[in-house]
Amino acid sequence: MEPNELERAAKLIEENESVIIFGHQWPDGDAIGSLLGLGIALSRAGHAVQASWPAPLELPHKYEFLPGLDLLVEPDEVEPAGLAIAVDCANAERLQELKAPATGARDLVNIDHHPDNSRFGTVNLVDPGSSATAEIITRNSGALGIVLDGDSALCLYAGIVTDTGRFQFTNTTAETLECASRLVSLGVEPHAVYENVYQSDSLAYIRLTGEVLTNAVYDEELGLIYGCVMQADLESFGVKMNETEELIDDLRALKGHRVAALFKELRDGTIRVSLRSRIDCDIGTVARNLGGGGHRVAAGYTSGAGGIESAVRELKDEIVASGGNTGCR
Ligand code: 5GP
Ligand code: MN
Repeated sequence: MEPNELERAAKLIEENESVIIFGHQWPDGDAIGSLLGLGIALSRAGHAVQASWPAPLELPHKYEFLPGLDLLVEPDEVEPAGLAIAVDCANAERLQELKAPATGARDLVNIDHHPDNSRFGTVNLVDPGSSATAEIITRNSGALGIVLDGDSALCLYAGIVTDTGRFQFTNTTAETLECASRLVSLGVEPHAVYENVYQSDSLAYIRLTGEVLTNAVYDEELGLIYGCVMQADLESFGVKMNETEELIDDLRALKGHRVAALFKELRDGTIRVSLRSRIDCDIGTVARNLGGGGHRVAAGYTSGAGGIESAVRELKDEIVASGGNTGCR
């Protein structure tokens, strides 16, 4: 990250009273934690803050304990503002219907840690070496002129915990732990995040997990383990799709696997595919080749409406085709 980008971002924040902060559709813990953590800090510094993400503006239950939810504004009710800030978004397309207000603002600060970030902001705080967007915000809060308190720290901590798999993924560094330590010093209680985020599943979700894992398939030749969440499963178990963010981690427990995939059938019939891989396999490139993106070991894309079988075939073909370059084969 260029040092003068930080200075430019700090100046834009100082100069603009009204700020819109955007996350990506189906936000994860990092997008939500970054959005709320930054939103709380700016709002307490006297800015008029609107925070949003592309419809539906549904918050997964496990993040309802976070402060700052009063900052959330339905995407079609977002009012123009002088400054827009995108968090955890690799490209402007991920903002969908919010792309217009985001790029319509005088300036757009793009804060993200995806290696394939398209630098779509007028100022880009992009650091692929950071475990989470929340880590970038925490580490650079001083340089950005942002004061963190217990509430903003709690949101940012939740972002770091979820994007690092509770400090266990390969993206966890000494700097990550230093940032987490600072947030704990500001009053965050790690067990509170654990209880709310990781001990708050409904019985319905636990039963759905049982079904998905029972039907999971392991392709030993490719080292690919995959499972499917269909609309019919969600209906019969009474679970919302946004509750299934962590389900892919259960598939990753399998000894010897190389790639884990979770195929999720959306209401319109298209299939969202979540991918995870071992460090020697670049699943981000596989996802990019299929129209999506992400990190080396955590990525995703949207497959067409051809059904699960064709989506599975498409993924296997891509793993075989790009396997030599990506190390996934
Ligand atoms: P998840 O499986 O949790 O939805 O996504 C894993 C990672 O891949 C996240 O960092 C997410 O931002 C990225 N990702 C998922 N889907 C897409 C996509 O369609 N496009 C891009 N560029 N990145 C994606
Ligand atoms: Mn992230």
